[in-house]
Amino acid sequence: MARVNPSFLDEVSCSSDFNAFACMNCGVCTAVCPMGLDLLPRRLFRYVLIGLEDKVIENTETIYTCLLCKMCEENCPAEVKIAENVKCLRSYINRKVFKL
Ligand code: SF4
Ligand code: SF4
Repeated sequence: MARVNPSFLDEVSCSSDFNAFACMNCGVCTAVCPMGLDLLPRRLFRYVLIGLEDKVIENTETIYTCLLCKMCEENCPAEVKIAENVKCLRSYINRKVFKL
């Protein structure tokens, strides 16, 4: 069974620009992503919001596959700061998984 970490969102939110909660799961980001990332941003952001820490950690490779090109962000109808959010996810992974 999935473990829920109620403070996960606070642990990941690395700046006031973290706004994954604005995502409405429309799928535009996936459609325009040059890497074809379906997990990022919409699914992994949702995992953060509901505290599914393990689901995020098991997708570490995907989090580091992102080019931070902002194609998704420029086309996001909800103005989610996707690149900033991904950077927060990386910062969290660096601390938690790589112990940096
Ligand atoms: S384009 Fe924006 S609102 Fe739509 S799924 Fe992606 S992040 Fe969420
Ligand atoms: S920043 Fe670029 S590579 Fe990363 S999820 Fe958005 S479109 Fe894909």
